[in-house]
Amino acid sequence: MSDSGAGLDFDSAVVYAIPMRTRFRGITVREGMLIPGPLGWGEFCAFPEYDDREAAAWLATAVEQASVGWPEPVRERVPVNCIVPAVGPERAREIVVASGCRTAKVKVADHPDSLAEDLVRVAAAREALGPGGAVRIDANAVWDVETAVDRIKQIDRAAGGLEYVEQPCRTVEELAEVRRRVDVRIAADESIRRAEDPLRVAVAGAADVAVLKCTPLGGVRRALAVAEAAGLPCLVSSALETSVGLSAQIALAAALPELDFACGLDTLSLLTGDVVTAPLRPVDGYLTVPRTAPIPDPELLERFRHPDPERTDWWRQRADRVRKLLT
Ligand SMILES: [Mg+2]
Repeated sequence: MSDSGAGLDFDSAVVYAIPMRTRFRGITVREGMLIPGPLGWGEFCAFPEYDDREAAAWLATAVEQASVGWPEPVRERVPVNCIVPAVGPERAREIVVASGCRTAKVKVADHPDSLAEDLVRVAAAREALGPGGAVRIDANAVWDVETAVDRIKQIDRAAGGLEYVEQPCRTVEELAEVRRRVDVRIAADESIRRAEDPLRVAVAGAADVAVLKCTPLGGVRRALAVAEAAGLPCLVSSALETSVGLSAQIALAAALPELDFACGLDTLSLLTGDVVTAPLRPVDGYLTVPRTAPIPDPELLERFRHPDPERTDWWRQRADRVRKLLT
């Protein structure tokens, strides 16, 4: 066998399908592939619409996890934020209180006339957290510059001060303009999908904070190098992995020299199941950094094994093509 895929045992890989609790990114079932290697298991779960070249970075992350290992952590636990979707104020308060988190990420701009709902939702999150907590909002790139400037100022007031606004607009140029016109920090998320993106964001003065996901960046080591080169404060967010892939994101959060913001790593709650018996869920707002990457449980692997042979073949063929792109 050639060394593409660095010793991973693709013949023993398992293609999984785990239903989501709610529709997210337009998907209702999370699919991916778990691949054993000499050091443990890696997860290859590039979203289906990504081409092979983009997917190669995701596979590189699995290779690092299963056959190379990660750098030493510099912290034993990682603070995480809770996620408040587009819900009413009562529900928002309940979610924040039940999470035990000190940071709430509140979804805003869910529809064009959302402002009044956004204002009461962030106010409810603030009330639940108290003055010591942090409220951040995510607009998922839907505003134009004028709307962003106006909404951010109003929501900042209603929230009693925002920690930051994640991706208010789509382009790097728009982010930079909004950033010049508001006093709230801007975080880039959707603008950062490839290794060169954080540098572009930094050079353009488009953000104060970078949201990193190690999976699309090609692994923990590459993401650390990207963070260093960007020179921006970073936090880590998941790409909706099972506990196997999530452990790589936690390894990145654990190895970042500085971590001043809670991470978006409480995402297993979005899936209806997991492939390990002890899922990597936070307790009182913190994830404990695992000493070793989790190993899938054979029974759970069977339970979530993809029921559709055509989709299983699709994933296997994709992995075969993509591994040839790894060098
Ligand atoms: Mg985001």
